[in-house]
Amino acid sequence: FWEVSYNIAHLMQFIPVAIQAAAAVRHMEEMLDEPTPIADRPGAAELPRITDNIAFERVTFGYEGAERPVLDNLSLRLQAGKTIAIVGPSGSGKSTLLNLILRLYQPDEGRVTVDGVDVRKVTMDSLRQSMAVVFQDNMLFNMTIRENIRLGKEGATDAEVVAAAKKAEIHRYIMSLPDKYDTQVGERGDTLSGGQRQRLAIARAIVRDPAVLLLDEATSALDQTTEAAINKTLLKLARGRTMIFSTHRLASVVEMDEIIVISNGQAIERGSHKELLAKDGVYRKLWDDQTHGRHGSRNDDDDDEED
Ligand code: ATP
Repeated sequence: FWEVSYNIAHLMQFIPVAIQAAAAVRHMEEMLDEPTPIADRPGAAELPRITDNIAFERVTFGYEGAERPVLDNLSLRLQAGKTIAIVGPSGSGKSTLLNLILRLYQPDEGRVTVDGVDVRKVTMDSLRQSMAVVFQDNMLFNMTIRENIRLGKEGATDAEVVAAAKKAEIHRYIMSLPDKYDTQVGERGDTLSGGQRQRLAIARAIVRDPAVLLLDEATSALDQTTEAAINKTLLKLARGRTMIFSTHRLASVVEMDEIIVISNGQAIERGSHKELLAKDGVYRKLWDDQTHGRHGSRNDDDDDEED
């Protein structure tokens, strides 16, 4: 339950206020107790489209009540326009890193900047406009497919919704349904396979054409075939954007421009897959462990659409 409500809390930040009032969402809201929304500072500026980098400058951060900080004096520069993987064992702080970029939490010390501007000094609206996030579990609401995608951009036209679905490579599947975009998604999206749900979540994220696309274990819960198919879609979507992809599954990151290994709140290795293998360090060990110990599972994504 904690994890589900945590994900709802994340997603709520990205749903337009008007829709948050919907009864289904209100019910969810009652279950939420954190994180508290962060208000704009007086005189907060609009964030321009990112051109250079997202940086962590000596960031220390710990969750309330925790003994040790998750990130400890972390300095890290993420180059705009690249596909960047954040990898590391469970609990190493990957999600936390994304949370701080999204300003769902704030550093205890240090700062997170976009093109040199402290994210605390920009409006939340402009920050959210420029970024979109896909989680491992994404809320789908009991409304039509069209409306579920439109949650990503208030007032998105039908053409924009269709364009987003095409980019997420779920359009053809939607068109095969009797009611097409008017198909009602079940209460928990359980009329769709895991892969289809993720593709809808990707369409929702992409509909506002975000400069920065954040993926938090977005394909880790899928079987290997589905995971690979969706990762392929994501790499296409990353063109012209900055993509930050957190995962503990290394098979997903082989083709990324850069891989950053996080451990105990520090970035301990970074480079391309090839460079990191050659380095023969922590990444190499994780890679060897995973490639020797992987098991196959159910393939539930029959929607590998090629445009
Ligand atoms: P995973 O792959 O399991 O999600 P991760 O690398 O993304 O792991 P984080 O989720 O960032 O790691 O968690 C880092 C540490 O912070 C963990 O010890 C976790 O238990 C703790 N933590 C994460 N979120 C919260 C929270 N909202 N409140 C308190 N502690 C938290």
